[in-house]
Amino acid sequence: MVNLLIDKQPVSVPEGTTILDAAKKLNVRIPSLCYLNLEELNMVNKVASCRICVVEVEGRRNLAPSCATPVSEGMKITTNSRRVLFARRRLLQLILSNHPFNCLICAKSTDCELQRLAWEFGINTQRYEGERSSHAIDKSSSALKRDPEKCIMCRRCETMCNEVQTVHALTAFGRGFDAIVAPAEMKPLVESNCVYCGQCVSVCPTAALTGVGYIQDTWAAIFNPAKKVVVQVAPAVRVAIGEEFGMPAGQIVTGQLAAGLRRMGFDAVFDTTFGADLTVMEEAHEIIERITKNEKLPILTSCCPGWINFIKYHFPKLMYMPSSCKSPQQMTGTMIKTFYAQKMGYKVEDVVSISVMPCIAKKYEAGLPDHQSNGTYDVDFVITTRELAKMLKEVGVDLRYMPNEEFDNPMGESTGAGVIFGATGGVLEAALRTVYEEMTGQILENVDFTAVRGLEGVREASVDVNGRTVNVAVASGLGNARKILEKIERGTSKYDVIEIMACPGGCVNGGGQPYCADRVETVKQRIAGLYEIDRGQEVRKSHKNISVIKLYEEFLGKPGGHKAHELLHVSYT
Ligand code: SF4
Ligand code: SF4
Ligand code: SF4
Repeated sequence: MVNLLIDKQPVSVPEGTTILDAAKKLNVRIPSLCYLNLEELNMVNKVASCRICVVEVEGRRNLAPSCATPVSEGMKITTNSRRVLFARRRLLQLILSNHPFNCLICAKSTDCELQRLAWEFGINTQRYEGERSSHAIDKSSSALKRDPEKCIMCRRCETMCNEVQTVHALTAFGRGFDAIVAPAEMKPLVESNCVYCGQCVSVCPTAALTGVGYIQDTWAAIFNPAKKVVVQVAPAVRVAIGEEFGMPAGQIVTGQLAAGLRRMGFDAVFDTTFGADLTVMEEAHEIIERITKNEKLPILTSCCPGWINFIKYHFPKLMYMPSSCKSPQQMTGTMIKTFYAQKMGYKVEDVVSISVMPCIAKKYEAGLPDHQSNGTYDVDFVITTRELAKMLKEVGVDLRYMPNEEFDNPMGESTGAGVIFGATGGVLEAALRTVYEEMTGQILENVDFTAVRGLEGVREASVDVNGRTVNVAVASGLGNARKILEKIERGTSKYDVIEIMACPGGCVNGGGQPYCADRVETVKQRIAGLYEIDRGQEVRKSHKNISVIKLYEEFLGKPGGHKAHELLHVSYT
């Protein structure tokens, strides 16, 4: 341990700790725009590029960047002297001198870390006028937008994309005034290997990286009297959207959400969790078939489009391994455009299918050519949790005061298994609950597979199913997925079933979720919220969902059967 004084207060921290992290122990907040330490999620950005975090170290002439200066025995640090505050204000003014001043109409307004710091430092005039960098906005993708003029070169996105996700879609070009972060050869995003996981959006302090918005398209559909507008909501949304209304992370607002969506004018409000139960039915069928025949193992889950893009681009030879199941979003969308439209007597071209997702990649997934049924896209527009919160506020709906309402039927009923899809390990746990009972014919009394829960990047477990040991693994974050895939390539993997989610922690930490100051703690609370819902559900196994059983009886036939295969599965190209 190293002992030092920060603002005259003694503190003891392990060797190697930075001054900035040591100050946190004393609740001394040192501002920064580039530093980010999400150690439990594998993300630490220490490039020290913004220099806002400078402090005085007794005995040193120059101010030191606290995020990149390790503590040493006997150090005396001052974080709030006149010199420090003056330097920070000047640095901030210099950053602002090359930043657009259109905060009022910026997608990140009120959520922007640069805007917040400018406010905290009382900056209300533009001190330095002069030349500015000029770059075109990259609108090439349907999911992710790059606005390089808003970039402050903090490099968080690069660390996230290259070191955590190991996708290597972003890199820095140029020096000084010309510096820019962009895909290889400064090509548009659609021509890059970006998988649209949206994790760079989550960590970008400004609006240089944002999701593509579909709020106005959604309003246009709602206010079109000729359209039947149907919405579905993903599991991870219900434990996060409350944060946008001043509630703590993990607060469960399922019923209030259903009520709020109805007030907005949607004609039917469905639960993607129903689609998650449907996914389990189809995926469990595939898992059992492959395990029984001992072929094409391990089987990899397929409900995360960011992850599916990753394996397509980086490990194409393994593309025979993922399950062919569509994601819960797409399964629900397909059922809306086929079964539901037919049941209600609607013309499919009059039905608009909207989904509310924690995810940026789902925006991309919805536009894939093989996600069409009945001649139209299964999902027409995808809005994120953040976008939905804005829309609710626009119509004066405060979720804190909404009554507790149910989702609509026939696609409103769900189980605890479907709900935990939003957390890393949840998809596998849900599948195991069904696989076990289907393979053994016995009732699974304890449905909690706790070994696959948690935030550790890779987790493994073994389950005895009818005398056959089924080895399973869970990875969240694409860097962790890469480790598992490399094992498979080397032939050293012992796994039968593997769940992979692109976002560290799973969908609760998706790129479309509310921005948060303490990400690790927030993610833990959101996950805890999902497991709380699961524990409280009367039905916790997908194959016991009465509405799903009826859907097979009335419309789909058998899990894995011809019609189910035609509507609920894809082939990868
Ligand atoms: S969305 Fe994911 S893959 Fe694409 S640039 Fe951002 S972090 Fe990289
Ligand atoms: S795009 Fe955002 S995260 Fe990346 S360097 Fe620029 S400001 Fe930082
Ligand atoms: S983990 Fe969830 S939120 Fe993240 S890319 Fe995958 S599906 Fe989207």
